[in-house]
Amino acid sequence: MEKMPKTSPDPTDFAHVRAWVFDLDNTLYPHHINLFAQIDRNMTAYVQQLLQLEPAEARALQKQYYHEHGTTLQGLMLHHGIDPDGFLEQAHAIDYSALLPDPALGDAIKALPGRKFIFTNGSVPHAQAAARALGILDHFDDVFDIVAAGYLPKPASATYDKFASLHKIDTAHAAMFEDLPRNLQVPKALGMRTVLLVPRNLEAVVLERWERPTTEDDHIDYVTDDLAAFLTGIMAA
Ligand SMILES: [Mg+2]
Repeated sequence: MEKMPKTSPDPTDFAHVRAWVFDLDNTLYPHHINLFAQIDRNMTAYVQQLLQLEPAEARALQKQYYHEHGTTLQGLMLHHGIDPDGFLEQAHAIDYSALLPDPALGDAIKALPGRKFIFTNGSVPHAQAAARALGILDHFDDVFDIVAAGYLPKPASATYDKFASLHKIDTAHAAMFEDLPRNLQVPKALGMRTVLLVPRNLEAVVLERWERPTTEDDHIDYVTDDLAAFLTGIMAA
């Protein structure tokens, strides 16, 4: 039998955790909100404009860069030498109105003991806008974004090291929450508790191959489709 990740939290598994690290997109808000679809469209439009491609070609190239380099941005910087700031601004020019205040999530994050961080391959302005719309921004100590990462995205191990060293995080006393299985490999190797966020109704949702958990993902401790309920479960004594 493969070891399968657990779904309901055992509070004793998290009793030692003093740093709580959250990815942003499809983690702090659920996949079905589909906010990332807007960013995705903006990135495709950027690639299309930059390289004068047909929409389908631009889309294919964008996805190739995302897959090979962790972000579309990293691929565009490596292969086309683009200005990252202009790209990030255009990619994140989106409508946040689909994000509504989530007081249950805010209360759950607030109750966690220790420091809380957002660690995103997006930008600080995007993370702040999203977290503000969710009504949870004030509960975080800081946002570590792709600029702070020197544009080297998760899952590069150097980026996790940079994040942990900047904030003096003892990774043996930390937990990471993410929606991409591959972004939890390094955290697990660093001794962090790892929690994968999956879409509700997972089997019916269309995901890229590398976005879907498999039985080989033994670096994932827990899987959940409800972050607020999961965090509340951690604190239930
Ligand atoms: Mg994400």
